Amino acid sequence: MVMMMSNLEMKLCGDLVLREKCDVVENITPDILHTLDEMVQMMRDQNGVGLAAPQVNITKRFLVMMNPDTDEVFKMINPVITKKSDKLCTMEEGCLSVLGPDDLPVFADVSRPESVEVEWTDENGKPMAAKMSGLPARIVQHETDHLDGVLFIDYLSPVHREMVMRKVRKHKK
Ligand SMILES: [Zn+2]
Repeated sequence: MVMMMSNLEMKLCGDLVLREKCDVVENITPDILHTLDEMVQMMRDQNGVGLAAPQVNITKRFLVMMNPDTDEVFKMINPVITKKSDKLCTMEEGCLSVLGPDDLPVFADVSRPESVEVEWTDENGKPMAAKMSGLPARIVQHETDHLDGVLFIDYLSPVHREMVMRKVRKHKK
C-alpha cells in the first residue's frame, strides 16, 4: 500500500521500536498535532480502529483510536487506564503491525477486562476521562499496551502465538 500524503511508515512485528516503553509527552507540540492527524488518516486508510505512536516509529505516549459503533475519533496524549473490570471477555484482535502473507492483519482471540476507565489529555491540552466497555474498551487497552511495548500476541498461549507467528513470518517484506 502506498501512502502518498504521509511521511509515516508503519513498523511491523519484529521491529524493536514496537518493544520500547514510550516517554511521557511533556509538551503538545505542533509536530505532535500534525502526527496525530496523519495517524488518523493512516488508521482510516488501512481500515484500522487504532494506531499508537511506536507503530509509526515514535516512542512517545500518544495514540489515535475510534469507536467503530459511533465513528467518533479520539486523539489521546498520555493515556492511562485507571481502572479495569474484574469481568473479562474474549474478542478477536488484530494489529496493523502484525501482518500475514496476504498483507492483512492476522487475527486471534484475546481475553481482556470487559470495561475500563481511562484518562488522557486531548489535542487541546484538556484533561479527559471516560468509562469504556465493549469494542472501545478493547481498542484502548490494545493501543495503550503499545506504549509499553506490549503486543496482543503476548497474551496468547505459546501454541496459539506460534500459529500467528507462522503467518507473520510468511508476510512479504
Ligand atoms: Zn496494534
